[in-house]
Amino acid sequence: MQAAAPSVSRRLLARLRDVMAGGGTAEERLDKVVTLIAADMVAEVCSCYVMRAGEVLELFATEGLKKTAVHKTRLRVGEGLVGDVAAHARPLALADAQSHPMFAYRPETGEEIFHSLMGVPIIRGGRVIGVLVVQNRTMRHYTDEEIETLETVAMVLAELVASGELVNREELVPVDGNALLPLRIEGIKLNAGVGIGVAVLHQPRITIRRLVAEDPEAELARLRAALASIKNALDELFSRPEMRDGEHRDVLETYRMFTEDKGWLGKIGEAIRSGLTAEAAVQKVHDDMRARMSQITDPYLRERLHDFEDLANRLLQHLSGGEEGAPRGELPHDAILIARTMGPMDLFDYDPKRLRGLVLEEGSPTMHVAIVARALDIPVVGRAKDVLDKVESHDPVIVDGDNGQVFVRPSDDIRDIFSEALTQREQRAAHYARLRDLPAVTRDDVSVKLMMNAGLLLDMSHLHDSGADGIGLYRTELPFMARSALPDVAAQTLLYRKILDQAAGKPVVFRALDVGGDKILPYWNPYEEDNPALGWRSIRITLDRPAVLRHQLRALLRSAVGRELRLMFPMIAEVAELVQARRILDLEIERERAAGRPLPDSIQVGTMLEVPALAFQMDALLPLVDFVSIGSNDMTQFLYAVDRGNPRIAERYDPLAPAMLTFIRYVAAKCEAARVPLSVCGEMAGRPLEAMALIACGVRILSVASPSIGPVKTMIRTLAVAQLKDYLDGLLKSPDRSLRDKLKSFAIDHGVTL
Ligand code: PEP
Ligand code: MG
Repeated sequence: MQAAAPSVSRRLLARLRDVMAGGGTAEERLDKVVTLIAADMVAEVCSCYVMRAGEVLELFATEGLKKTAVHKTRLRVGEGLVGDVAAHARPLALADAQSHPMFAYRPETGEEIFHSLMGVPIIRGGRVIGVLVVQNRTMRHYTDEEIETLETVAMVLAELVASGELVNREELVPVDGNALLPLRIEGIKLNAGVGIGVAVLHQPRITIRRLVAEDPEAELARLRAALASIKNALDELFSRPEMRDGEHRDVLETYRMFTEDKGWLGKIGEAIRSGLTAEAAVQKVHDDMRARMSQITDPYLRERLHDFEDLANRLLQHLSGGEEGAPRGELPHDAILIARTMGPMDLFDYDPKRLRGLVLEEGSPTMHVAIVARALDIPVVGRAKDVLDKVESHDPVIVDGDNGQVFVRPSDDIRDIFSEALTQREQRAAHYARLRDLPAVTRDDVSVKLMMNAGLLLDMSHLHDSGADGIGLYRTELPFMARSALPDVAAQTLLYRKILDQAAGKPVVFRALDVGGDKILPYWNPYEEDNPALGWRSIRITLDRPAVLRHQLRALLRSAVGRELRLMFPMIAEVAELVQARRILDLEIERERAAGRPLPDSIQVGTMLEVPALAFQMDALLPLVDFVSIGSNDMTQFLYAVDRGNPRIAERYDPLAPAMLTFIRYVAAKCEAARVPLSVCGEMAGRPLEAMALIACGVRILSVASPSIGPVKTMIRTLAVAQLKDYLDGLLKSPDRSLRDKLKSFAIDHGVTL
């Protein structure tokens, strides 16, 4: 057989359109469709399997297999070659299918005489709803073009399968239990805060009415016009004042580049040339991408695919006249957006004043829409499994971004609890605002420096709102992650200068690049490692690739000219690493000086203490540093050998355990004796009870996320340290797993507000 040239497939598509639009029952039309495909593709067999409830694929129509097998032959997803196509949502083409280990023989079909097999998934809305198969007697080697053709046909067929005429639409959608019962869905925290409102399904599915087109040139022109209007909309966004700078701008600039991505546009162009309308072509490329996305583990690639997906949705809206786009005018005043995923531009389609929350089926903390949502202060929960299947438009929903959970159709009790929590939150916020300018001093006059952690330029506004004493940890890698390429010295200098400008004289501790582990940069291919937390990460990378570190240090030096530069190195495991990093810094200082460039007024260099080994070199370390900061997140993971990202063991060890507190007390005593300031900048420092214990251990600087400033300051102002210190001395000798309860009782008994 000839390779399926576009014209062949166009003829097939036109005939399919006629059959599908013609009379008869859905089953009769499906019968005609498989006959047509078999003839056109010169295959002895063409069969269509449809997904039924319970993840079973049922033979619905066949040309070439025994007709008596229709509705009898059933395969589970993952069973046999057909099940394999469905399980992986990818095509399969085998010249000798029967010798394939997955081949599952079904005698009722009489298929033993057919040797070659090609199967493609029938996909709708990113889900496999069936499998389309052709078979030949000979050992035929199907070409890539033939696979493409069958995929295109499968896409057209998806409309028929999903129409609800063959099987109930509900069968095509896996639903757990009774969809109308109240539900709690667990996800991950992508942005803190609580939102109560009603569900608005982001981008209700656009129904493509015209699938096949006669004139590819006209379709290509429509595609170009749609792309141009998206680019115009982006340009309009860039001109808005809130888009002047910040990482959300970087994110959208990267996104704009996608509108010109040759590979992606090329695929859409090909699909148009094969006879599809522009919208059907976009949908096809989009569906292929979505189906394959489930197989992709590389977070950067997934992120890119999300952006492409958003772009595809936008294109579909434009191409179908935009009539089914986001219902801007009708947005309720308390909208909770529900989406499978969202592109960075999407949130701007909605009035942010009406958005109370966002729930995504997918998502990761570095995903682009999460960065934008943080800028707009909208609570977000990600990875809320199957939420789109479980929520109907207008359902009442509560987004609990603080705990990564979503309540759908909550009972009155739950609703009352959250309404009450929201009111209390507002009251507390007012209380914390009043505390803003009061010092963090204990009842017995111990001063604590309360600093803030930041990672995005947009966090900087909280520095002044919260009344923090400065930025105790600026995670420099996050802006790197929002871009598509390593920022050069000039771009970094500009960014760090903006940060220092916004700090307006309050100190900022910049942390040198800390990537690897769970923080993957888009443009660095991560090495596959069995244990990335213990692997090539952080300072280990930057000492091995000193150019990256040198550039960053150069940018930091230039940004802080005429001011103070505070800088710390992450993940230092031994003094020698710090010495090496400092040497790189000294060389950069020398270079700047030799080039006649001005330098910062003063430079303070510190180290993070995250790897326990370093604590056993305190005497060698302390003379070399201006300050030390304990990164308790990594420290806990290394001290207890517990992966910080693994929820199964997350609760197993408590940082308020004698071991951890003894460790911190030891480090604090060493630092105090050497008069080297010590801070704690991990999550632990931001929880009032933990912060109380840290202060009792001798820590006097805490660096916490901005929402924790108020609660921790409240605790500090009600604490008398001397009493607690004595009490803790005794407790540290106890064999208890955790001192949490005892510390809590202490707080209650002594009027400490937690
Ligand atoms: C830490 O490990 O505690 C820390 C502050 O660094 P990060 O969370 O960025 O690894
Ligand atoms: Mg760390």
